[in-house]
Amino acid sequence: MSIKSFESKVYLSSPTMHGDELKYIQQAYATNWMSTVGENINEVERIAAQKAGMQHAVALSCCTAALHLCVRCAGEELYGKSPLGHGALEGKRVFCSDMTFGATVNPVVYEGGIPIFIDTHPDSWSMDPVALEKAFELYPDVKLVVCAELYGFPGHLDQIKRICEQHGALLIEDAAEALGATLHGKQCGSFGDYCTVSYNGNKIITGSAGGCLLTNNIETANKARKLATQSKEAAPWYQHEEVGYNYRMSNVVAGVVRGQYPYLGEHIAQKKAIYERYREGFRDLPIRMNPIVEGSEPNYWLSAMTIDRAYMCEQTRSNTHATYIAKKGKSCPTQILEALAEHNAEGRPIWKPMHMQPMYLAHEFVTRNGSARQGNGTDVGADIFARGLCLPSDIKMTAEQQDRIIAIVRSCFE
Ligand SMILES: *Cc1c(COP(=O)(O)O)cnc(C)c1O
Repeated sequence: MSIKSFESKVYLSSPTMHGDELKYIQQAYATNWMSTVGENINEVERIAAQKAGMQHAVALSCCTAALHLCVRCAGEELYGKSPLGHGALEGKRVFCSDMTFGATVNPVVYEGGIPIFIDTHPDSWSMDPVALEKAFELYPDVKLVVCAELYGFPGHLDQIKRICEQHGALLIEDAAEALGATLHGKQCGSFGDYCTVSYNGNKIITGSAGGCLLTNNIETANKARKLATQSKEAAPWYQHEEVGYNYRMSNVVAGVVRGQYPYLGEHIAQKKAIYERYREGFRDLPIRMNPIVEGSEPNYWLSAMTIDRAYMCEQTRSNTHATYIAKKGKSCPTQILEALAEHNAEGRPIWKPMHMQPMYLAHEFVTRNGSARQGNGTDVGADIFARGLCLPSDIKMTAEQQDRIIAIVRSCFE
């Protein structure tokens, strides 16, 4: 390939700092609040709740911890408390997003729940409301749904919430990737009964780590804070009635998050420009960018693409390896990811659907047509996984660098 490689790596999505973060870190240091208490944490909770339009935010060590506390609190609300407090979902089925990061689903298992995977909507890449309806037909006793938005592009969360209400189920919204995105003017991270956002190092804004649980219920917020600090009871000594965790956000990390929030809008604008430049650059290729649901305003965290079916060359994936047979005029994600890596640029496959993961092969997977484990259905998730990939979406990527990325992708079809 004649396209020049990048001298310094072009990342998928790396932290973009602005200087204010240092000021708040230094404040934490100067005032000696080098712990999981302090002004930065209070401010992050205030800003996060205000941004999402929720009553309360609880700042935690990561979004996975936030999801765990959501699952634990929802489980107790639905099924009551177990003797030690943990295992709130022991043996209970939970409907979960299928095409997402494992962190969406694993907390269900921490609490003893049994994930049932719901297929993906082809026009949103999030949970398909029709498949969710089907799942309630098959399993009317299910009382909890965990739904994630993909790559910052809101799914049909309004419909999903309505379906949950119709069936008396609670909704946990994993908005880890969708901070600042909206659907019909409403912020992602405000659709669920319990919601989460992430400040992981590669998300749209970052604290180097961290996350928030969002809720409109003061009791949930108080309970989450207690569980996150090892479940200490109000007593003169360390008194415990239930199992707790060490999940609170550090005041140093909170300083970084606090410094980043004012730049969320700017980051979204830059990510949107990246997405649009890709869309323009691929206009004459058999490529589609991530779908945008009508009435939604994504945060454009990761630009992703799929190759039209007729233009896929042969690609084979085992559990750990991928191969392909190059063909003129055609390509596949494996070829494009290899070409990007050869040029010192970072792409990534689409999240491999949970129903395809070895650990979850025995778990039910429901599509629009019913149980896919019984051979029904079209498996939208497997199809997007086969034909899709995430493109370098780093805010610091220059227009010239992005043009070169587009040329690399183009060359794969030659
Ligand atoms: C990043 C991510 C998480 C986990 O966030 P952490 O803060 O790293 O724990 C959870 N769910 C989804 C969909 C994510 O993309």
